[in-house]
Amino acid sequence: MSSHHDLVIRGGTVVLPTGQRPADIAVINGAISAIGSEVKGGAETIDARGLVVLPGVVDPHVHFNEPGRESWEGWEAGTRGAARGGVTTVLEMPLNAHPPTTTAAAFDVKLAVASQKALVDFGLWGGLVPENLGELETLHQRGVIGFKAFMSHSGIDDFRRVPDGVLAIGLKTTARLDALVGVHAESHEMVVRLGAELRAGGRTDRLAWCRSRPPAAEVEAIGRLLTCMRSAGKGVRAHVVHVSCPEGLNAVDAARSKGVAITAETCPHYLAFTDEDFERIGPPLKCAPPIRDATTRDALWQEVLAGRVDFIGSDHSPCPAADKQKGEDDIWQAWGGVAGIQATLPVLMTGGVHARGMSFERIAHLTSTTPAQAFGLYPRKGAVAVGGDADFALVGPQ
Ligand code: ZN
Repeated sequence: MSSHHDLVIRGGTVVLPTGQRPADIAVINGAISAIGSEVKGGAETIDARGLVVLPGVVDPHVHFNEPGRESWEGWEAGTRGAARGGVTTVLEMPLNAHPPTTTAAAFDVKLAVASQKALVDFGLWGGLVPENLGELETLHQRGVIGFKAFMSHSGIDDFRRVPDGVLAIGLKTTARLDALVGVHAESHEMVVRLGAELRAGGRTDRLAWCRSRPPAAEVEAIGRLLTCMRSAGKGVRAHVVHVSCPEGLNAVDAARSKGVAITAETCPHYLAFTDEDFERIGPPLKCAPPIRDATTRDALWQEVLAGRVDFIGSDHSPCPAADKQKGEDDIWQAWGGVAGIQATLPVLMTGGVHARGMSFERIAHLTSTTPAQAFGLYPRKGAVAVGGDADFALVGPQ
């Protein structure tokens, strides 16, 4: 053989940091060794003519539930779904595994099982809960990619929400460690009160779930998060996961424009669906924050297109079918979580590229470059570039 390349991907339209162009990509030992025209040889070749070659998706927000709840899915099935959807790196949340990843011992157990079973690359989030402030430094040393905290009930009793005072103390520690905190920002008091009122009024319908968690609950919590960040001092960094409404993004954007180190993510299900879909489809689309109305959904797309969303995370969170079915006639009973790990690129293609003229460069930025940068994985991941990992998503543009 004339060539030393392990693999050549031929003739695709490659989305590079400098823009898209037709190119061949050569790979040696899992890394990109050359990008150009007419790259010779290759022990294995992939014909990518007619396909768009994107940097592999870095999904910063998935729940695989193993160890402890592997009957809900587990690392092997979850990462198979990831690979099928062009996701080559997952950052996995500290819940709903049991034990949750809030101690060094729990981290070690999860790392062992993930190392054995994962079919794509991964990083692990740690948890920030009222019980583990003394463990944050050890978890950081173990290599967690960030700490997840809930300002409202997490849906799992073994992963407790942090009251503001505890969050403020935790943020002081993470600032000192130069670690990122990902926050589920919904007002606990507001969603508990509104939910109780709706249930007392006999509401069991799907829209009642939406009414109990209005955009105002997100905005209120983001405001308190920003207050906690101010008290934590220099170096504090936070990321608001799964923002579902423009009001929430605006709150993040306003703080960022004043120099606060805060980012925001939204999810494919908020871009793909409306509350009318939720009324029709029911429990599979139950999630928190909830699916919003059509006006909000369209406004969220405008935020994405305008660059006011830092990145897209799937918030993939499956459960046994029975835990969805039991909410068919009473939405409060259903598990909250959308299983969508394969859907990120299809949603961005259909709703973004085809319906709204979104560019492939923007998709690469939102799904790969920015998350890789936020979690310290760039430039090894996050771009198609010589020297980087050979992580690609080959997409049929139609
Ligand atoms: Zn989540």
